Amino acid sequence: MTHEYRRPTASGGLRLHLNENTAGCSPKVLEAMRRVTREEAAVYPDYNEAIEACASKFGVSAGSVLLVNGLDEGILLAALVMLREGTPADPCEAIIVQPAFDMYAACADGAGGRIVEVLPDAGLDFPARRVLDALSDRTRIIFLTSPNNPTGLSIPPENVGSIANAAPQAMVFLDEAYADFSGESMIQSAASGAIPNLIVGRTFAKAYGLAGVRAGALFGTPAGLSAMRRVIPPYSLNLFAAAALPAALADLEYYNWYLSEVRESKGLLYEVLDRHGLRYWPSNGNFVLAFFGEALASVVSGLAERGIHIRDRSADPGCTGCARMTAGVVAHTQRLVSALEEVMCGAR
Ligand SMILES: *Cc1c(COP(=O)(O)O)cnc(C)c1O
Repeated sequence: MTHEYRRPTASGGLRLHLNENTAGCSPKVLEAMRRVTREEAAVYPDYNEAIEACASKFGVSAGSVLLVNGLDEGILLAALVMLREGTPADPCEAIIVQPAFDMYAACADGAGGRIVEVLPDAGLDFPARRVLDALSDRTRIIFLTSPNNPTGLSIPPENVGSIANAAPQAMVFLDEAYADFSGESMIQSAASGAIPNLIVGRTFAKAYGLAGVRAGALFGTPAGLSAMRRVIPPYSLNLFAAAALPAALADLEYYNWYLSEVRESKGLLYEVLDRHGLRYWPSNGNFVLAFFGEALASVVSGLAERGIHIRDRSADPGCTGCARMTAGVVAHTQRLVSALEEVMCGAR
């Protein structure tokens, strides 16, 4: 079984298909990157300032932070260190709770692991019981995502705790790529050792608008991070990402502005979906998953003709007939809402 990530393409137009920040990063980030000198470009980067900024932002010690070249690299590292002990005859297992971010399967597969999928209920609620049932003595990593992509639903923290507790032989990798938008995090539980086998992953790609810069972080106890620290390339973030991070974390005004745009945009999307009697999942992320049913293909292509890209998630378990739309800058969402009105009237 191969799990190659298919890069979605969109040339030009309004990109509402990858949950990117639709405003761009804080202008302060660009200023910081512009201050980089010729001499700095010529030497291997120093991450001290970026690590300290990250540790103080999240209220943990520097030893509980591992900066990564985008959270994707964090996922790859975790899969590699947890699954490498398996053999083709007796592989280690990775549990993936569907619908899930594609990289978990790609990385587990690449690390030689066996993927154990937990399928969703009709409502797409977190299937805690079935995750517990899927545990085995070969389980080495359990990928959880809160808020989840593509549903936008959060996992109750007590579920994360009970899964971690039931699987001391495994790492619980809690992907918090969208936690900026929910305001809830388990970083403290991971860094303090309250849940010793918990690693939390964050990205600066979404709320901070640094997807092109590539920067993320893993949080855990120093012991929990040590295996990954040993295999990560020593200069995995480049100089610009290291300069961008402190500036991005310091610009609270920009961050809060973007979070409020996202909140308002989600409200606008709920309104248009309600008006058309369409089902959707109230989202804790910067996107909304909605059920268009039979009309899905014509909605996606009708929007594309109007220069707006959304993501068809039909292939994901439990998501037949569903599309995911990024909720970013309000003016962009207003364009999406008008286009949706046009397309859905045509689809009837
Ligand atoms: C976007 C996303 C990531 C990847 O983050 P990068 O920092 O851009 O690599 C990881 N996990 C989830 C769930 C995401 O949606």
